[in-house]
Amino acid sequence: MNDRTTLRRYPDRGSHDRETIDAIFREALICHVGFTDDEGRPIVIPTIHALVGDTLYLHGSVASRMLRTLREGSDVCINVAIVDGLVMARSHFNHSMNYRSVVVFGTTRLVDDPAEKQVAFEAIAEHVAPGRWDDARQPTEVEDRQTMVVAVSLDEASAKMRTGGPHDDEADHDLDVWAGVVPVKTTFGTPIADPDAIRDVELPGYLREYRRPSS
Ligand SMILES: Cc1cc2nc3c(=O)[nH]c(=O)nc-3n(C[C@H](O)[C@H](O)[C@H](O)COP(=O)(O)OP(=O)(O)OC[C@H]3O[C@@H](n4cnc5c(N)ncnc54)[C@H](O)[C@@H]3O)c2cc1C
Repeated sequence: MNDRTTLRRYPDRGSHDRETIDAIFREALICHVGFTDDEGRPIVIPTIHALVGDTLYLHGSVASRMLRTLREGSDVCINVAIVDGLVMARSHFNHSMNYRSVVVFGTTRLVDDPAEKQVAFEAIAEHVAPGRWDDARQPTEVEDRQTMVVAVSLDEASAKMRTGGPHDDEADHDLDVWAGVVPVKTTFGTPIADPDAIRDVELPGYLREYRRPSS
């Protein structure tokens, strides 16, 4: 923890525990990457991520502005946020959300070592759908060259979570207003086979039973 990752409002909701941070990253399908573009303006881009040990990997087309900027070693701020509930209080002021979120500060590093790049490719595929890496065709050399990978260390990271019901003012408890929490859950539908498929391939179990780690 340092000055930048010190939680100010409701610090009791915060954590710098790596297990907590990792679990939130593993649960979230995407993160948002904030950086400064080549004209000095702030920009935030949503993208897929994967965590391997202390390293967060991001990937994309070599033509992407985000990747072209980050390859030079940029300062970034990365966030993931998962909404777990809508907290309805008796007063508008005390409405809130239940959530799990992480903020990471770091400097990006271009991954040009072929072995590390391969680790990142596999981690990203497995982050989205565990079991997919061994199932689908592996990247060709051309596809590899068309894809850039950057890494960010998790040295400067914080988590913040809110759980529980509304925190209403004592005087408001007597109001004739419903209060409580509407739980929010991510659910996944029945997979739909590609209509252009020329082979009848059985749906793999890892997609039939698809769920995120905590769902
Ligand atoms: C789904 C969701 C909805 C929210 N809605 C609101 C809202 O409407 N209004 C509002 O003011 N706040 C909201 N928050 C909380 C918000 O993310 C900040 O935590 C809050 O603004 C407190 O900022 P601060 O000035 O105390 O800290 P800052 O000075 O902004 O942050 C200090 C440090 O604390 C850490 N930190 C702060 N927030 C988070 C976080 N969410 N996750 C991980 N680390 C964090 C970072 O390391 C940061 O550098 C929401 C959060 C989530 C996830």
